[in-house]
Amino acid sequence: MTIYSHSRLSTFEKCPLSYKYKYLDKIKPEIPFIGIEAYMGSTVHESLEYLYRRQKKMPDADISLILLLDKYETIWDENWSEDIKIVKEGMTKEDYFLQGKKILADYYKNNQPFDKEKTLSVEERIDVNIEGFKIMGFIDRIAVNNETGNLEIHDYKTSGRLPQISDLQNDRQLSLYQIGARKKYPEYDEKEAVVIYHYLKFNEEFRFHKTDEELNAVKNDIVDLIQTIELTSWENNFKPRVSKLCNWCEFSTICPAFQNSADQPV
Ligand code: SF4
Repeated sequence: MTIYSHSRLSTFEKCPLSYKYKYLDKIKPEIPFIGIEAYMGSTVHESLEYLYRRQKKMPDADISLILLLDKYETIWDENWSEDIKIVKEGMTKEDYFLQGKKILADYYKNNQPFDKEKTLSVEERIDVNIEGFKIMGFIDRIAVNNETGNLEIHDYKTSGRLPQISDLQNDRQLSLYQIGARKKYPEYDEKEAVVIYHYLKFNEEFRFHKTDEELNAVKNDIVDLIQTIELTSWENNFKPRVSKLCNWCEFSTICPAFQNSADQPV
């Protein structure tokens, strides 16, 4: 049985043909594109994972900012590859390294001594079953607020752009997180489960709670989308959707629709 994820569903929505290339044909691009923004983001994520795993294991032991930043530097150096691309003109590897360092330092200063909540898990896989369809995902951190007793689902973003609140409110991932975390920790089901998006570059956080009614509406949308995907698979009718996003598509060199497009987007 197919196991879906938020990114798998999003890929289909953006372009059914790229969904086929990626998830059904499992085509690996000749030259994988690794942007330095994503690299910096994953290094920050790993550093926060280290911070909270350590804190969960040794709740009474302090972790210093120096230790956290040293860890960041170690992860950065160990995983660095010359294949990582810097696209933005005027930016250097060092600029991005320092950006990540500042993000972590600001987060640390704003949240120390990390006693507002108790961490239950870090990078935990959640599995959601909606009308027989399986959807999985990973949550950066699940915690319980020490004051309210509410379940908190923390998601860390290193994007350089702040989203519209309405976009976040309608984010499918938010609902999946809430459904998955409640299922994983049913003992907190009577309390509100709050999803917290941390936009680290801006020191901003956005909190959301969906009612059961809102969650049911999202579940219905997910079922509709998966049924569309399964019908498309059965008919083998994956249509390309040429748009400006093709310029960032890892399959653009093999995609006939993009190659034959008279006015290839730039
Ligand atoms: S290049 Fe464009 S149309 Fe072709 S698979 Fe990628 S996103 Fe779809």
